[in-house]
Amino acid sequence: MSDKFNCSLCGKCCMLCDRIPELKEYDRGNGVCRYLLKNENSYICMIYEKRPDICNVKTQWEQNHKEDISLEEYFKKSEEACRIIIETGSIEWK
Ligand code: SF4
Ligand code: SF4
Repeated sequence: MSDKFNCSLCGKCCMLCDRIPELKEYDRGNGVCRYLLKNENSYICMIYEKRPDICNVKTQWEQNHKEDISLEEYFKKSEEACRIIIETGSIEWK
């Protein structure tokens, strides 16, 4: 089991700010985070080191799930959530 969260840098989760209460103020008006930057075939967070807790998978685990599930299992569940977002969260880049 992996001890690292496998993010493909697809940026999809950063295009759902209008659906995530903690990220409402980051919405540039179309759901896309104002700090998301397109970088050739992937996306990067311009404030990665200071990104909000809701954007940090490990921090979410530490704050909300540490007592219930291992970090490895939480990463695995999060990667499954990514798969669903990627398959269904079809928000176009503008
Ligand atoms: S949806 Fe998942 S894989 Fe894509 S950028 Fe977000 S965390 Fe990474
Ligand atoms: S702050 Fe960074 S990680 Fe969080 S939604 Fe915006 S671009 Fe994505």
